[in-house]
Amino acid sequence: MKNPVCPRCSASQVVKSGIVNDRQRYRCKPCAYYFSVNKLGKNIDSYYVTKALQLYIEGISYREIERILGVSHVSVMNWVRKYKIKAPEQTEYHPTYKILNHTELVEYMKLGDNLKGAGMMITELGDKYMMIKWKRFRE
Ligand SMILES: [Zn+2]
Repeated sequence: MKNPVCPRCSASQVVKSGIVNDRQRYRCKPCAYYFSVNKLGKNIDSYYVTKALQLYIEGISYREIERILGVSHVSVMNWVRKYKIKAPEQTEYHPTYKILNHTELVEYMKLGDNLKGAGMMITELGDKYMMIKWKRFRE
């Protein structure tokens, strides 16, 4: 399983840093931030299957899903095949995503301009929230 990205600076240079409360802890090399993710057992929780398929439908690539959720892109490809998921073609816009903690999420939502002209979906991800956003009507 690949290391996840830093939820603070999105860097991928993270190193394992022990296990705390049954969760793998990581340290981000560039910004020295510590964070943890749920340790996945042999049987991957259906929670992750659902999340992976959601992301896939949103147009996020297998590799990106691997980085976000920490499940291999091969697993994601297998689930897509197994559940016969077909993502709609998206040529006009591409989703972006942010990983925020609760405070950051609330701050983001406070600004009306952040919500205008865009569609978004918020999904829980470990102890953080992921916001997927599509901008349709502006650059
Ligand atoms: Zn970082």
